[in-house]
This record gives sequence, C-alpha cells and structure tokens, in this order.
Amino acid sequence: MSRGKRPSWMIEIAIERMNILFENAEKQFIKHPERSNRYVELAQKLSMKYNTSIPEQWSRRFCKNCNCFLYPGHNSSVRLFNESVNILCEECGHIMKIPYRREKKNKRRAKYESK
Ligand SMILES: [Zn+2]
Repeated sequence: MSRGKRPSWMIEIAIERMNILFENAEKQFIKHPERSNRYVELAQKLSMKYNTSIPEQWSRRFCKNCNCFLYPGHNSSVRLFNESVNILCEECGHIMKIPYRREKKNKRRAKYESK
C-alpha cells in the first residue's frame, strides 16, 4: 500500500461505501448487533485506508473507545450537558462529548488532527 493523497474520486467512493456500511449497521442492529459492529470496523478500515474521515452524521454513531455501533435508546443514551452533546456508550461506559455549538475553526482542526 502506497502512502499519500488519493484522487478525489477514490475518496468519494470510500465515503459512499462508509455511508452504505453505516446504513446497514443501523438496519441490522436490532437483530444482529454483532454485524453492526463489524460494519463499523470495515468503515474505519476504509477511513484509514483512504485517509479520509468518517462522514459526520455517522461519526457519533459508534463508540470511539470500544468501536461498537451506537443505537440511541438501545445501547447508548444522548444527553445535553453544558452546551455539549454527551453520548454514553452503554457497552463500555465511555462518554463522548461533542460541542453543541461548534465553531468552524475547531471543526476543521478536528478533521485533520487524527493523523
Ligand atoms: Zn464503548
């Protein structure tokens, strides 16, 4: 595997595939939670391989600590606290804090920080 930037069409395909994986994870969660976790794993591999971040609407749908798919009301709970969204993973007890009011500057930073 060579390092470096990927062409944008490749990244678009990777994002498309991540979207599909997470959509499937959501659909299958109730009956097959273990499959959902597998989809999260695959999406993370894509994200690493193509050096692109997981689509924002899904990045809060899995636990950053134990990597399991989070389904609010089933294995996670969402609370608003001090202007941030706290997402509790009931699988491992990890709490993710997402600022409620995000500044663009911070957002851009977070995107490139995880290298
Ligand atoms: Zn967890």
